[in-house]
Amino acid sequence: MDLGFIGLGRMGGAMAGRLLDAGHHVVVFDVQASACEALVARGARIAASVREVADAASIVFASLPQPRVVRDVVLGADGLIDGDRLEIVIDLSTSGPDVAAQLATGLRARNIASIEAPVSGGIKGAREGKLSLMVAGPKAAWERVRPLIETLGKPFFMGETPGAGQTMKLVNNLLGACAIAITAEGMTIGIKAGLDPARMIEVLNASTGRNSATQDKWPRSVLPRSFDFGFASGLCLKDVRLCVETAVALGVPLTVGDAVQALLERTVSTLGADSDFTAMAKIVESDSGLDPDRPA
Ligand code: NAD
Repeated sequence: MDLGFIGLGRMGGAMAGRLLDAGHHVVVFDVQASACEALVARGARIAASVREVADAASIVFASLPQPRVVRDVVLGADGLIDGDRLEIVIDLSTSGPDVAAQLATGLRARNIASIEAPVSGGIKGAREGKLSLMVAGPKAAWERVRPLIETLGKPFFMGETPGAGQTMKLVNNLLGACAIAITAEGMTIGIKAGLDPARMIEVLNASTGRNSATQDKWPRSVLPRSFDFGFASGLCLKDVRLCVETAVALGVPLTVGDAVQALLERTVSTLGADSDFTAMAKIVESDSGLDPDRPA
């Protein structure tokens, strides 16, 4: 099948690779030409623009950093919407329910179906085809793209209402970010009391405090002090902000969510938007008088 893929970053590169490995023709575009290089070696064709992708492929995936970038790439001047062959857009980015609704309305006016399919599972899940995908969109289009999406992982169809998949994803990411923040606090208490961090993680993972941070983030990226899990704190902040906005619109007060947003804002302002989201731990350590370069 002739597919298009826009945004070949950490997640997009791995997902486009799986579509190529499954035997599809994939035409790719990224504003950073270097992001496409590894995929060309695996058979991808590079397009010169977003528009060229939608002239060449009837089904186009996007995995882009910010909601406004998704909106511009899909609906903006010389965007996907003007492509000659385009029939279905699949947004794999975490862009929030408002952008999902805008894409659905804008594309429907041109007879193009909009499928939102934000993903969870990180770079490892993307490489191995083990993501979970929270899908929403018109049922007929969903049935058509289902085999493609199953190449990337396990889809959960959340219904036809635009935003249903995005809202599910924001809830998931709020919980994931909270797990990192509260694990950072708990671990720092133990370190200051003289406990061994590796032993603490072993105990937590055999006890009721275990969570995605104790099971994955600490063993892979915090205990070894590599802070390289693969998700930028700027993007994590974007997700938590989108979730807080969604909660406000629905009248749900977020005591814990607001605190996590504040910690992420400090992580981004202190360590930069490109720092890994696991670096939230360093902020908690510094606040506690520890040296994040030698905390234990
Ligand atoms: P990334 O920054 O690594 O990749 C984004 C890519 O988009 C980059 O290669 C960038 O050059 C490209 N890009 C930016 N503007 C563009 C434009 N106008 N046209 C074409 N290409 C453009 O980000 P990522 O970590 O791969 O995340 C992508 C999306 O997936 C985000 O919405 C993120 O929230 C979501 N996500 C990421 C992870 C993760 O673990 N990294 C997990 C789940 C979901």
